Amino acid sequence: MKIKKVMEGPRDGEIRCLACFTRFRPKRGADRAVCPSCRTQWRISWPYPKTARLQGPVWDTYPKPGEPIRKK
Ligand SMILES: [Zn+2]
Repeated sequence: MKIKKVMEGPRDGEIRCLACFTRFRPKRGADRAVCPSCRTQWRISWPYPKTARLQGPVWDTYPKPGEPIRKK
């Protein structure tokens, strides 16, 4: 059943970079991870001890053309 592969969730401890679609494994329990391929920083959470979920980019480091960079 190939369809099952498609429906498969994220593999343990792995996330996929939304910028370049590289799969990588962040450090266990880290709240941020840097894509080894394109260097984008991502915020991650751990809904389960072994399952990382990508929350979104770290805006401080994410280039946004046309918008002023906000810093606290
Ligand atoms: Zn990437």
